[in-house]
Amino acid sequence: MPDALPGALPPAPGLSPLADEFSRAYWDAARDGTLLIQRCRSCGRCQFYPRGHCAACFAPDPEWIPASGHGRVHACTVIRRTPNAEFAADCPYVLAIIELDEGPRLTARIVGDVGDIACDEPVHVVFTPAGETFVLPNFALDGR
Ligand SMILES: [Zn+2]
Repeated sequence: MPDALPGALPPAPGLSPLADEFSRAYWDAARDGTLLIQRCRSCGRCQFYPRGHCAACFAPDPEWIPASGHGRVHACTVIRRTPNAEFAADCPYVLAIIELDEGPRLTARIVGDVGDIACDEPVHVVFTPAGETFVLPNFALDGR
């Protein structure tokens, strides 16, 4: 399991993402420190979240490819209060939409030093244990 950055989120006992037939490969790779995305075998478009078809051309069975792990902050917000008791101890934390260099956008937390975070800042993936069996891809600002 990869090391988390200083300031990374602690494991969240009792919470686990759902690994289904489409997402199991994604979660397995995250556990090994790899961020996977899907690429269409027909049109070549990359996509996230995992699906059984291409969202652009509907071709079946997109392939998994490792993402670079680099992208930019598309949008972000600071979560200061949450109705979810499981996340209350984490507040405040930054939730962001990351645009990967490959194109797809995904939602993740920004961990580590996030002072003065702004849209379009470059980020890189980090992996944070969540519970006993899952590792969450999160992001950290480059150079911090
Ligand atoms: Zn396609």
